Amino acid sequence: MEDVIIGLEIHVQLNKLNSKMFCGCSTDYHDSEPNTHTCPICLGLPGSLPVLNKKAVEYGIKVGLALNCTIEEETLFYRKNYYYPDLPKGFQISQYDFPLATKGYIMILGDDGAERNIRINRAHMEEDPGRLVHAGTIDKAKYTMVDYNRCGMPLLEVVTEPDLCSPKEARVFLDKLKSILEYLDVFDGSQEGSMRVDANISLKGGDRTEVKNISGFKGVEKALSYEITRQKNMQRRNIKVVQETRHFDEIRNITVSIRSKVGAHDYRYFPECDLVTMRIASWVPAIRDALPELPDSKRERFVKEYGLADDHAKSLTSEIKVANFYEAVAAKASPKLAAVWIADVLKGELNYRDLGIESFQAEHMAEIVNMLEAAKITEDGAVEVIRTLLDKKGESPAEIVASKGLGKAEDDAVKKAVREAVAENAAAVADYRAGSERALNFIVGQVMKKTRGKASPGEVHALVKAEVDKA
Ligand SMILES: [Zn+2]
Repeated sequence: MEDVIIGLEIHVQLNKLNSKMFCGCSTDYHDSEPNTHTCPICLGLPGSLPVLNKKAVEYGIKVGLALNCTIEEETLFYRKNYYYPDLPKGFQISQYDFPLATKGYIMILGDDGAERNIRINRAHMEEDPGRLVHAGTIDKAKYTMVDYNRCGMPLLEVVTEPDLCSPKEARVFLDKLKSILEYLDVFDGSQEGSMRVDANISLKGGDRTEVKNISGFKGVEKALSYEITRQKNMQRRNIKVVQETRHFDEIRNITVSIRSKVGAHDYRYFPECDLVTMRIASWVPAIRDALPELPDSKRERFVKEYGLADDHAKSLTSEIKVANFYEAVAAKASPKLAAVWIADVLKGELNYRDLGIESFQAEHMAEIVNMLEAAKITEDGAVEVIRTLLDKKGESPAEIVASKGLGKAEDDAVKKAVREAVAENAAAVADYRAGSERALNFIVGQVMKKTRGKASPGEVHALVKAEVDKA
């Protein structure tokens, strides 16, 4: 798919802040009635003046540094003028020239299996407009309602260079960006609409279209796939792709044209005269020093410190919550065994139930890993314990092992069962000696029955073979 060129603009709500970008209104509005988190400033009433949220700028610098950007010495706000019902002032306070951060990159695993840097053009601060709720689809709604609770919410817009080559790579990039933002503790991705994406897409040699305001990473992948097919079909029929803005209709899974592309000049940007230029260079060193360990470094450390395979380290560090969970377990149990069981088993069981890692206790995981290491339970038994805990049908691993009889049979009992099974099934022994592998499996089955599944099949197989070969 090297003929596909994708660039993204991602609007990230800095939703871990308590107050909005330019006023004291609370950002915690998700469960509130519409239009209850507003004041003269975020409603843009005449005479009201914006007061900058200093913490939002600090968060912005934090993100810029984590995205390997240069933080500019000075930065300032502009008015981006346009009229839309969700924007009561008639302009959005944003940045234009002199954005907060420029020229960074995020490393992703590309479609070709190699890691490469996706360049970040810039990251700038702005305020979110309000929210429009259409009665039906955007192109057919009879009426639209507006909620200004979101108006003035602190946003960071991250703009990439057109370095992505497929919808899947766009998805991988967004996952990585989300991971970094959550590591920085400036962003909660579980809130609806907290990350919204505009995607620019073109086929080599063609004009590009922009799909606006896609929420959800699956939506981005779908919208981009649709656009590629649409543009390829047009190319095939010799129809020129026009530069335009399109909307992704999540219900019908298609993109629809909403307007021809607007250039920067159409917004009549000019400096926001109510806010001064910020000299932020002196803030940077302290913020840089306080940056937490980020996903790539944590992954490297997990490989070095715990001796993990790289794919396990990657799986365990993609989410900060999972990384913390793993380290809590690794402090109390074999780090290598814990990695295998969390990355390969627990994560799968959680995904299947659509649960997060907080649904499982690190204490319990450590207990299970310790039982596995001491060969007190079989692997099947351990999976059963995990499932029982997730389905809330048991109290603790020890209790479940006891009540379900999952404890691994003692070696002696297994050996005794093997001797008995071999003695009782002379015909099968003869068949095996005549070359039937199936006959051996039959005897293994008999032993498993006698030990009621508490022995591990691989072990029993070896014991039966040894017993038969010896006789
Ligand atoms: Zn307000």
